Amino acid sequence: MIPASFEYVRAGTIEEAVAALREHGDEAKLLAGGHSLLPLMKLRLATPEVLVDIGRVDAMKGVCETDDGRLAIGSMTTHQDVMDDPLVREHCGVLAEVTAMVGDAQVRHRGTLGGALAHGDAASDLPAAILALDGTFTVEGPDGRREIAARDFFVDYLTTALQDDEVVVEVRVPKLDGDWGWRYEKFSRVSQAWAIVGALGLVKRTNGTIEEARVGLTHMGAVPVRASAVEDALAGNGPDAIADAAQHAADGTDAPSDLNATSAFRQHLARVLTRRALEAAAG
Ligand SMILES: Cc1cc2nc3c(=O)[nH]c(=O)nc-3n(C[C@H](O)[C@H](O)[C@H](O)COP(=O)(O)OP(=O)(O)OC[C@H]3O[C@@H](n4cnc5c(N)ncnc54)[C@H](O)[C@@H]3O)c2cc1C
Repeated sequence: MIPASFEYVRAGTIEEAVAALREHGDEAKLLAGGHSLLPLMKLRLATPEVLVDIGRVDAMKGVCETDDGRLAIGSMTTHQDVMDDPLVREHCGVLAEVTAMVGDAQVRHRGTLGGALAHGDAASDLPAAILALDGTFTVEGPDGRREIAARDFFVDYLTTALQDDEVVVEVRVPKLDGDWGWRYEKFSRVSQAWAIVGALGLVKRTNGTIEEARVGLTHMGAVPVRASAVEDALAGNGPDAIADAAQHAADGTDAPSDLNATSAFRQHLARVLTRRALEAAAG
């Protein structure tokens, strides 16, 4: 459990981080909270030659409102600080709810939003949440900044649309003001563990009708997925349509089999958890 030796570089600014990544190419890795990267290095599943520590880049911490009416959350904001942030609690409470289910208190105080997303693990809770929220990633590289939609960000297992020399600077999410309800249902082997399957339901109701429903699924494939068949079946219907619609939650997914669950069991969980999440979200 001892990592291979590596060079350590501390970046004080986003520009310094990008420059270090550019200099060292795919031999370098950013170090955020270290809660996903360091375990991989200890197992020698990852052997970066250079670690670029971004822990002191204050420009990537905290939450603010953007000119276009969204929230911008710095990628180095810890899970605990996301949960405690007044803007997140007021305008995007669903993100605080999902974040509260990530690991334990120790993990939430060290792990960061950007690290959890850039790691690209479909078993993590936050990728499915950002996908369901239609969030976007602001990333910076040697040629400046670009924005990547969440639906384009997660490419494959532990693989994202980030280039080797790009840093996730912030994540933007909409304000869910108005008639939105939500619930994240997470099924784990034991309390505070990774999701065997998770389902996030977001429902916007107008005069008793579901105007819009969104479902993000955790651990139902190599990347987080939206249960679009369920979403389509619910638009314009009443909450009594949820039970039938949720039967389509596993349609088009590629749920893995592992020591904790077979693919078929995961499909069953997706249907049950989606129904529960949507019923709670619809109030
Ligand atoms: C015991 C334990 C239990 C956990 N339980 C859960 C759980 O239940 N649910 C869950 O969702 N997660 C869980 N996690 C993971 C946790 O959420 C981690 O904090 C998160 O996955 C990684 O965040 P980090 O800041 O530690 O990133 P790091 O480990 O530092 O980095 C992860 C990867 O992202 C890259 N990276 C980091 N920041 C950036 C950036 N700004 N731009 C570009 N690339 C970047 C790094 O180079 C690395 O490849 C658990 C972790 C542990 C150790």
